[in-house]
Amino acid sequence: MKTIGLIGGMSWESTAHYYAHLNRGAKERLGGRHSAKLLLYSIDFDELATLQHADRWDEATALIVAAGKRLERGGADCVLICANTMHISAPQLEGAVQIPLLHVVDVTGAAIRKAGVQHVGLLGTAFTMEMPFYKDRLREKFGLDVLVPETEDRATIHRNIFDELVHGMVSQESKAAYRAIIQRLVDQGAEAIILGCTELRMIIEPTDSSVPLFDTTTLHCEAALDFAISGSKEALIKY
Ligand code: GLU
Repeated sequence: MKTIGLIGGMSWESTAHYYAHLNRGAKERLGGRHSAKLLLYSIDFDELATLQHADRWDEATALIVAAGKRLERGGADCVLICANTMHISAPQLEGAVQIPLLHVVDVTGAAIRKAGVQHVGLLGTAFTMEMPFYKDRLREKFGLDVLVPETEDRATIHRNIFDELVHGMVSQESKAAYRAIIQRLVDQGAEAIILGCTELRMIIEPTDSSVPLFDTTTLHCEAALDFAISGSKEALIKY
């Protein structure tokens, strides 16, 4: 089995889901006492979130690149950025390490294509919903039509992620807000919804949506298990 390198702590609440999912998945696939071989470098989220909100993306990228290099030096066979937002730094990370990056957009885009979906709604941080790095990759590499919520809904989601979910808080009021936001996207033609933030699975469940959900945390972990157990990055190109 290959060793999966995780850049986590964005936030640790969602990294805990990665840790649990990867270990449970290894046991399910291999049976017995098996668990996943993992190296985790968990950053201090306050440092990162401060840089993100100050638009200091070069410094935020430097944190991700340094973490990736540490994982490579530690013997990881691949690297995952355990967040959607910081895939903004994917090109710099890929340029700095030899080990493969399992890109969350590729894993997600491939699963959506496989499901035959064309119009997809994207939920995530304001950075993920508004900046081009994420939507463009879904459009250009996977030919998808990506819808994002209206301004006010985007602000609601961003606030919920940073003020509640990264602190482990899940409220019924916020859950109801997500249900309404998802329905508005469906009314605009979304055939499926991307949970494009690794904390969203904590609050949004399939019953909150009338269309299928694509949870990036789950898809990312399953792709990492494919890689670790088969030992080949080609294992990912099965869609
Ligand atoms: N976990 C979040 C994501 O998937 C974001 C927190 C952050 O801004 O890094 O985008």
